[in-house]
Amino acid sequence: MRRVSTSSGYDYRVPDCLFCKIVAGDVPAKIVAESGRTIAFRDINPQAPTHVLIIPKQHHRDLAALAGAGDGLLDEVAAQAHKVAEAEGVSGGGYRVVFNTGPEAGQTVFHVHAHLLGGRRLAWPPG
Ligand code: AMP
Ligand code: ZN
Repeated sequence: MRRVSTSSGYDYRVPDCLFCKIVAGDVPAKIVAESGRTIAFRDINPQAPTHVLIIPKQHHRDLAALAGAGDGLLDEVAAQAHKVAEAEGVSGGGYRVVFNTGPEAGQTVFHVHAHLLGGRRLAWPPG
């Protein structure tokens, strides 16, 4: 990993990680919110009227790694997901936050991200 300058200071970036590139501003994204340690942007292939990804700026490959860091960053990601849900107007009706973890669960980008989904009725169980 190497340190790169980002809009909000220094952070770590993993080469060839798509979401690290979004954090660094090297890949464009529709950013809807940013906090000190997180960034939220619209999913490029939305599965619901609101589909936003909330990620830590620091690279962790999955939920296990983020939870294991034990530095409050997972709390910040969850709190940011709720804030975005409020800003998107879906917090009243209800929304879903999903961490696909591992290939069997459909994780394709190995920089941990919370999917925030809302704006339509969400079926259960998921596919
Ligand atoms: P997952 O399959 O849980 O790892 O989720 C990865 C998500 O990233 C998918 O929902 C993709 O649609 C989304 N995605 C992939 N590339 C981009 C991108 N450049 N900008 C925004 N979202 C992306
Ligand atoms: Zn990354």
